[in-house]
Amino acid sequence: MVDPSEPVVLADPDVIAGLDYWRTLPIKQQPSWPNPDAVGAASAKIASLPPLVFAGEVDVLRERLARAAQGDAFLLQGGDCAETFAGATAQNIRDRVKTILQMAVVLTYGASKPIVKMGRMAGQFAKPRSSDTETRGDVTLPAYRGDIVNGFDFTPESREADPARLIEGYHTAASTLNLVRAFTQGGFADLRQVHSWNKGFAQNPANHAYEKVAGEIDRAIKFMEAAGADFDELKRVEFYSSHEGLLMDYERPMTRIDSRTGTPYNTSAHFLWIGERTRELDGAHVDYFSRVRNPIGVKLGPSTSADDMERLIDKLDPNREPGRLTFITRMGAGKVRDALPPLLEAIKSMDATPLWVSDPMHGNGLTTPNGYKTRRFDDVVDEVKGFFAAHSAAGTYPGGIHIELTGDDVTECLGGSEQIDEATLATRYESLCDPRLNHMQSLELAFLVAEELTAF
Ligand code: PEP
Ligand code: MN
Repeated sequence: MVDPSEPVVLADPDVIAGLDYWRTLPIKQQPSWPNPDAVGAASAKIASLPPLVFAGEVDVLRERLARAAQGDAFLLQGGDCAETFAGATAQNIRDRVKTILQMAVVLTYGASKPIVKMGRMAGQFAKPRSSDTETRGDVTLPAYRGDIVNGFDFTPESREADPARLIEGYHTAASTLNLVRAFTQGGFADLRQVHSWNKGFAQNPANHAYEKVAGEIDRAIKFMEAAGADFDELKRVEFYSSHEGLLMDYERPMTRIDSRTGTPYNTSAHFLWIGERTRELDGAHVDYFSRVRNPIGVKLGPSTSADDMERLIDKLDPNREPGRLTFITRMGAGKVRDALPPLLEAIKSMDATPLWVSDPMHGNGLTTPNGYKTRRFDDVVDEVKGFFAAHSAAGTYPGGIHIELTGDDVTECLGGSEQIDEATLATRYESLCDPRLNHMQSLELAFLVAEELTAF
């Protein structure tokens, strides 16, 4: 969104040099590419392609997140653990967007707060792994690191890191984002379509609860229309993209200098977060993300100390700018009530206003005896409740949730009102990485969060 009448500011050479300082630092979770020249060529190609998001949009998001950090809005961030190239179909993308729009309606209506909508979408292709290799029987191969690095099939060819995937990642992100923009700007997300977002999903109790809210919204809109009101806000929604900022051979070439200000922006997504496994203070990721203007998230697990938190703030948000820094806490249902309160107490004396978001997924993983990686819906709910309780006790604001979800009726997480049990997991388990809430579990969670949020 560059205004051609504005003077173009050239980037300071120190800014450019600083952008590559991460290369001198320890780095984790990067693939070993078999052919460094091919990676260089792929990165150079990506650097020559258009940005996927614009600096002006990123700035608006920072303002929206600032409102959430200050208690006047709420962030809903959701999508796959790992998007796949094959999964980037119109139907899949539409159903995920529909699910997020439905959750947002439930939250807006239930809590009377503006909801900032954000997908873990259009770039969530790179995964950190607990081990560099995977062994099946007597065969050991490189671990699957996400479609932007290698293939999921357990063969040596597929598991070899392939730089051509960096470029395919860019194009898949571009076509996903294009469809998301069309859905959210082109009439589909018009609040008068609130019923149609429920169509095509299997009938279940959460749909019925949703229909009730949708009916009430309908009446409110009809009333406003009859009274002559015509809000543009009803016709389209702002929808932001996000992913874990992990794979530096993709993130660095997607970094561009904003011609208005001479400042670097990562143009692969509006919002990027640093994962629990790569947030070392002296590591490459924290240094690189400290130098771009995007709002940045950091995942905080149960072992985070107040001291770690303060140093992350000093490095990533030295100017204490609301909206700049989001802490995504992922403590686990059994730990959140002990691990979160000390951080919330400590923040009060730090002169910072991070946005606090709950990720009730990543601290609650388990593997069933029959070998499925899953999570219990009850644990997810319990962590969300613990998050709200901790903020209530500390007098801080619980500003968002971060969920792994899909619009499909998958059977990946245990429980929910459909009572998915261990034997049922096999029926429709599709995630290549972590288990996601299905459509109904996502809606159920939205109702619960709306209820918790009314107290704030
Ligand atoms: C993720 O968000 O998929 C993830 C790997 O999370 P975390 O960094 O919290 O483990
Ligand atoms: Mn995950």
